[in-house]
Amino acid sequence: MADNKTAIVTGASRGIGKACAIELAKAGYNIAVCYAGNDEASAKTIEELKSIGVKAKAYKFNVADKEACSKAVEEILTDFGSVEILVNNAGITRDGLFMRMSSENWEAVINTNLNSAFYMSNAVIKTMVKQRSGCIINMSSIVGVMGNAGQANYSAAKAGLIGLTKSLAKELGSRNIRVNAIAPGFIQTDMTKDLDTEKITEHIPLKRLGQPEDIAKTVKFLAHDALYITGQVIGVDGGLVV
Ligand code: NAP
Repeated sequence: MADNKTAIVTGASRGIGKACAIELAKAGYNIAVCYAGNDEASAKTIEELKSIGVKAKAYKFNVADKEACSKAVEEILTDFGSVEILVNNAGITRDGLFMRMSSENWEAVINTNLNSAFYMSNAVIKTMVKQRSGCIINMSSIVGVMGNAGQANYSAAKAGLIGLTKSLAKELGSRNIRVNAIAPGFIQTDMTKDLDTEKITEHIPLKRLGQPEDIAKTVKFLAHDALYITGQVIGVDGGLVV
């Protein structure tokens, strides 16, 4: 069990982030739940985390805002005393064909899905270097590996996270800080609720969509058990990308 250690999970009010927070709490981590605006969902997550028996507190801020990220991490460090794990999970989609993609939709996705990981990692890194231990997990996607028509902005952001992951792993390994990425396939959350799941399932070797818990278990493995794994991108996609 993680004794009095802290994990920051962005986008932890719902979906994959919430499942990650719960799985890490079950391993004994105190959780800083970061979210954008859904107070009801975040309150429910906090309640569930507390019922597991760990310390949990919610932080509402925009991960696309550098100042807000550093202010939130400062607050978290004051409240929890340390941070061992950062899960950069918050993300959005603004899909559309590239020919018609507005700068606004390009920037919103790059800022929220990629720049956020820079801002949050930047804000925790001094603490992790000082304590000579830490683990950062970036939530990429299979489309960051293989691309996807209609998702140039999202694919670029998710591919960027892979480059960030590999570079940081090389830069920070000597400080005992591990950095990995997860590339989920289709996971059943609010983000995918409007997709034609029957059609998608046909192409998935395991013949089902993933559940948030499938990703959460991998996060817990990378954060808590896999102490000799760094710089990797772990596909959790039912066999879609092999
Ligand atoms: P989701 O259900 O839509 O949840 C998104 C979460 O991110 C929410 O907690 C939301 O907070 C938070 N968030 C969004 N924008 C934010 C911002 N600007 N600042 C702070 N927090 C923000 O998404 P999900 O399906 O769980 O996806 C989680 C991550 O996995 C994303 O990075 C996504 O790209 C990635 N992923 C998902 C799938 C999939 O199939 N679902 C596949 C591959 C990768 P509020 O609740 O306050 O809005």
